[in-house]
Formats: sequence, structure tokens, C-alpha cells
Amino acid sequence: MSDPLIDLRSDTVTRPTAGMRAAMNAAELGDDVFREDPTVNRLEERVAELLGKEAALFVPSGTMSNQIAIKAHTLPGDELLCEANNHIYLYEAGGPAVLSGVTCRTIDGDHGILDVTQFDGKVRPINDHSVRTKLVCLENTHNRGGGRIYPLEKVQAISEWARRSGLLMHLDGARLWNAIVATGIGAATWAAEFDTVSVCFSKGLGAPVGSALVGPRDFIARARRIRKLFGGGMRQAGGLAAAALFALDHHIDRLAEDHRNAQVIAEAIADTPGLRLDPPEVDTNLIWFTVEPYRGTANEVAEALRQRGVLVHSAGPQTLRACTHLDVSSAQAERAADAIRRLAAVPTMSAR
Ligand SMILES: *Cc1c(COP(=O)(O)O)cnc(C)c1O
Repeated sequence: MSDPLIDLRSDTVTRPTAGMRAAMNAAELGDDVFREDPTVNRLEERVAELLGKEAALFVPSGTMSNQIAIKAHTLPGDELLCEANNHIYLYEAGGPAVLSGVTCRTIDGDHGILDVTQFDGKVRPINDHSVRTKLVCLENTHNRGGGRIYPLEKVQAISEWARRSGLLMHLDGARLWNAIVATGIGAATWAAEFDTVSVCFSKGLGAPVGSALVGPRDFIARARRIRKLFGGGMRQAGGLAAAALFALDHHIDRLAEDHRNAQVIAEAIADTPGLRLDPPEVDTNLIWFTVEPYRGTANEVAEALRQRGVLVHSAGPQTLRACTHLDVSSAQAERAADAIRRLAAVPTMSAR
């Protein structure tokens, strides 16, 4: 039998482990739209407590979580400030415009990271012409920024500026768990800088489905109504909540393994002529890299790796992403690194 493919395309490709499936199977269920699913209620309490907020709402996806937050924080004609490669702006199908009538003012960051000085002058004047600046959205870790961790001091400075300016703060923390494990800074410390936080269970934590939005009690009450409006009210959702609870118990600390495995793969990329890590340092489990045109295109590199049993995501003409996750062992990370190093022996475009 040939070795199974090593799937580094995304940290969403994980399948529930045997332990997680058992927990899902054993979950007590009820109708969560009636707020009668005990497992969902337990998850919401647990996540709110973990992040130091009053309440939480279980939702089907990270996209829905962010978009509910935006709608609950704003009115049509408002504006949010975000980094230019933010998930909310780039990868959520124009959600702020479509669902909330909100415009996004983007600011170019350094691999997703903004400095507070870049917010100077970004609050619109209050008059009959301007959109109303309302909300700041940050992302930690930053996906398109290369899995970068937002330095806490930078978050604190931006948060202080936002409060002084009368703006609200929302965090897209799809991979906040990775930042927590990599820095040792706790969930509540990060969350304290924000009014609301979205976290995902279906990325590195390995649950099949699910995210949570946390914030003040009255905000979560409004968010619950918007979840219904968006079609995200789920009935016997306790099986999914059980997967998330299992992930919180068993799959947070082990993210350190994913980070170590990412370093092994990143070294191979750094050592291979024609490939370049971008950013040059890998903070967590996401490895973004580019291919020099003389070596070919991103699609060609992805295909050459596929032939060696490794799947990566071709994210642009010359840009690729590899992710480590629960279903990539350290032995598989070593094999993927070998496959990358062997690319150096593949004839380049100019030689073909
Ligand atoms: C994956 C992701 C989301 C949400 O994705 P869903 O597929 O909708 O769950 C949000 N933000 C970031 C940074 C992500 O990587």
C-alpha cells in the first residue's frame, strides 16, 4: 500500500479522532434554539469563562461568528477599520457590505500586523457626508500574514486608542489558540483588549464544525437573534458542541507539536533554492512561501509535491501555503520536508 497523502493544504482538513467521536456520540442533546441543549449550554459557559467574558454563542462557522459580530456592533452606513489582508475583508464574500451595509477601510500591515500610529486620523468626522467609523477588527494569529502572532503590546496600544476614540474592538481569533500556546499568554489576557472575540474549533483544534462568539451578555443576546436571522440556529447541536469541548480538553496544548512540525517544513523551504519563506520567520502552524519564476509557478510546485505525496495550497500565481495540524505527525512533517528538499532536483522551467 502506498503512503497516504500528507495534506498540508489547511488545518481544517482534520477528521475527528476516535476519542472525539466517542464524546460526540455520548453527548446529551436538546433543542438549542429553545436553549435546551445541555452540551451547547456547557460549551458556551466554558468558552465565556475561558475568555473572561460574560457570555458566548455557539455558531456553525468562523465566518458567521465574525459577521454576526459586525452586524451586532454596527448600523448600515458605519465603517470598520481592518488590516488589508484581514480574513473578514478578503475571504468572507463581502459580508460586511452584503449583510450589514458596512464599509471596510483597510490599512496595509506588516504581514498582517498594524502599529497604533497607523490609526492616526482614521476616525471620520461626524457630519452628513462621512461614513461613521465604529469598529476595529484585528486577526490573531493572522492567516494571510503568515500565521503571525500579534504582539500583545501592539494589541494593547490599538485597543487603548480605540477606546479613546469611542470605537469598539472585535478579534477574529480563529487561531487565537495557536497564539496562546506559542506565547504562553492566556486567553483572557488577549480577550481583555476586545469587546468581542470569535474563536474556531474547526481549525487546529480538530473539531468537524463550530466557532464561538464571546462578549457582554446584552451583546450576545443581540447576536443570538442575528444568528437566527442568518440561518445559524441549530437544533440538537450538542454532538458538535461535544466535539468542541473535547478539543478544548485535549487539543490545545498539543498545538505546540504543530508549531514544531511547521519549523521542520519551514527549514526545508528556506534551504531550497527558488523557494522563499514569506514572512521569513514562522511563528505558528502556517507556512506561507513564494516560488521564484525561474523555478515555475505555484501550481507547478504544488503538482510536483503532490506527485511526492504532499498536498499544499496554491494561494496565488507564485504563492503557496502549507499548514501543520492534528493529522500531521512529526514523521510526516519530516517526509514532507524531504519532498520539498527533493524539489531542488526537479528541472526548472528554463531547463525544460
Ligand atoms: C478559517 C478562518 C475563519 C472562519 O472560517 P470558517 O471556514 O467560516 O469557519 C475566520 N478567520 C480566519 C483568520 C480564518 O482562518
